[in-house]
Amino acid sequence: MMELPICYYDARHKKLCPRCIRKLRNGEITEIDRDVSFVLAELEKTHPILSQNTKIEKIWKVENVYVLSVSKKTKKIFDQHPEIKKDLEEKLGGKVVIFPNFQQLKDRPEQALRAIFSGFPIMGIDQDYIYGYHRYTIRLKNAPTTSATTQDVTTTLEELKQLAQKLLNLEVTVNIVS
Ligand SMILES: [Zn+2]
Repeated sequence: MMELPICYYDARHKKLCPRCIRKLRNGEITEIDRDVSFVLAELEKTHPILSQNTKIEKIWKVENVYVLSVSKKTKKIFDQHPEIKKDLEEKLGGKVVIFPNFQQLKDRPEQALRAIFSGFPIMGIDQDYIYGYHRYTIRLKNAPTTSATTQDVTTTLEELKQLAQKLLNLEVTVNIVS
């Protein structure tokens, strides 16, 4: 059985129980949590592996990107079965990124940034104070493995940077150190 931000039963029947309606009203869950949970329950039918200890903690939407905070085990399932994410993206009509235990990191900017940029060689994260707000600068190593696909990497980095800024409500700059 999947663990979702809403009850599993609700997700399967595309209808919220009084308890989840209350959660939605008081902001504990959002319409994004609800709608994506409906889609995930649907996806479970074609990808039965999702019924094995899948835990989706929270879902955010930033522009056209859906961010899923999942358990470590669930992240592994998604990594081993890329077709699940592909199907999810198709059904949602947007890009999906998956971070393990991200919900717990969201209020810890430095750790959250490390999670978001975990695919890149991070040398360090600096923080300074500019015009009254915090700015985070991520120093990335210009690894030879990434320079071959510079265009792709740049696009992805830029996308992740935008995502991090909006998701964490921070000013983020990325420095590639060669
Ligand atoms: Zn419910």
